[in-house]
Amino acid sequence: MFDCIFCEIVNKRMKSEMILEDEDLVAFKDINPQAPVHILVVPRKHIESVQDLKADDMSLLATMILEAQKIAEKNNINEDGYRLVINKGVNGGQTVSHLHVHLLGGRRMTWPPG
Ligand code: 5GP
Ligand code: ZN
Repeated sequence: MFDCIFCEIVNKRMKSEMILEDEDLVAFKDINPQAPVHILVVPRKHIESVQDLKADDMSLLATMILEAQKIAEKNNINEDGYRLVINKGVNGGQTVSHLHVHLLGGRRMTWPPG
């Protein structure tokens, strides 16, 4: 067995503030929100990072983006805009080695990112 916080959340062995659950993915509130809306869209399948995606995973990735769209709409951040972020590795700032998309909104983001 390997330790993965997001697998624990996906399998309900660890609590989270779930936003949605479907066959292929879940979405829950980030425990340490960096914006008024900060939701993580996470595949049920354990994929370590964006670098580990295979051609077969493309429909899963597309579903993650489409779900992020829906969540943005439900949270009324689609008009003002939002940011989707996928961190990879140490330099990318990835701290959990289970692929996830951050949906951030409700405030003006800055560029360049920190
Ligand atoms: P990363 O740094 O890998 O791109 O993003 C991981 C995110 O997961 C961070 O924003 C962090 O706050 C969030 N996170 C870490 N552990 C937990 C947890 O146990 N529950 C929830 N809801 N979010 C978590
Ligand atoms: Zn995992």
